[in-house]
Amino acid sequence: MPKRRPRIVLAEAFDAPAVEKLRAVGEVVVLDACDEVHLKEAVADCDALLVRTRTTVTRAVIESAPRLRVIGRGGVGLENIDVDAARKRGIAVVYTPNASTDAVADLTVGMIIGLLRNISGCDAMVRRGSFWEARGGSCSREMSELTLGIVGMGRIGRAVARRCRNGFGMTILYNDIVSPGWLDFVATPVTKDQLYAHADVVTLHVPLTEITRNLIDAAALKEFKKGTLLINTSRGGVVDSLALAESLAAGTLAGAALDVFDPEPLLADHPLMLVPNTIFTPHIGSRSVAGLARMNDVVEDVVRVLQGRSPLYPAWLGEDDPIPP
Ligand code: NAD
Repeated sequence: MPKRRPRIVLAEAFDAPAVEKLRAVGEVVVLDACDEVHLKEAVADCDALLVRTRTTVTRAVIESAPRLRVIGRGGVGLENIDVDAARKRGIAVVYTPNASTDAVADLTVGMIIGLLRNISGCDAMVRRGSFWEARGGSCSREMSELTLGIVGMGRIGRAVARRCRNGFGMTILYNDIVSPGWLDFVATPVTKDQLYAHADVVTLHVPLTEITRNLIDAAALKEFKKGTLLINTSRGGVVDSLALAESLAAGTLAGAALDVFDPEPLLADHPLMLVPNTIFTPHIGSRSVAGLARMNDVVEDVVRVLQGRSPLYPAWLGEDDPIPP
């Protein structure tokens, strides 16, 4: 009897070369809907499930897939996958942790400069015919005068620090729960309270976890130096958005730039919509041509697992392997 070819379910789009690599090792099924009901039905006899950002792989989905050997996430954050449920079943979870690092770091630097120089505010005033008023009201500090506080000195935090220290001469403070090891730029580790108290700009690069949910809440915001700028390109849930709106309205924070919201999209009547000195982007951090292309690389690891080889970027491998931070 011929050996059964693995069945591979794609819940979201991957590029043609990536799909070809999967077709070389199994039968590929492309879904046209990725809600839980469709997903549970589709994974019933699948060996591999591939998702990007919009699909949530719940425990119920995992429990509906008795043959599942690997879940591939084209992207960085893993909060849309119940990694714990996968671990309990011994299902490998693989992802593309390096795909978005440069794209998110670039956007973060753009947001810092955008807030500092009030680029979108000036743009709106120029369009309204208030050219001289905008110019007269505009006089900012320079990047090299500022202290940047980085919460989460992982891949993206380090890429931001490298740009801001080596490119702009900023002073870098950072906080992380694990040591980032040797750094190829000058930066000082501090506690979160020290970081909030001393940074002119605070930028968030932590994953969304039970510990980091609402990390920046009303109590944390009270510790911030008056006039601080906050950048969040990590996950919306890391910031208490109502507390942030209050802090901006009160003028405690001087501005905030957000790429991520909870929920997404930001609701039209959310108080943040009414506060000044904000820049909002629609979760575009990872959306560079090269960054999106790199997310297709997850198929390499899916193929490796299906062939019984070790994946290069496991979030979870098997019973005895730790989940990397
Ligand atoms: P990473 O795992 O390399 O770094 C995260 C760092 O945060 C780690 O060093 C970790 O130790 C640290 N950390 C975790 N909990 C912490 C805490 N309570 N206090 C301080 N530090 C803590 O991840 P990364 O590649 O740098 O990505 C960071 C996050 O950025 C991702 O988890 C994802 O949510 C987000 N992201 C957003 C976009 C976007 O489109 N805006 C794209 C990619 C990633």
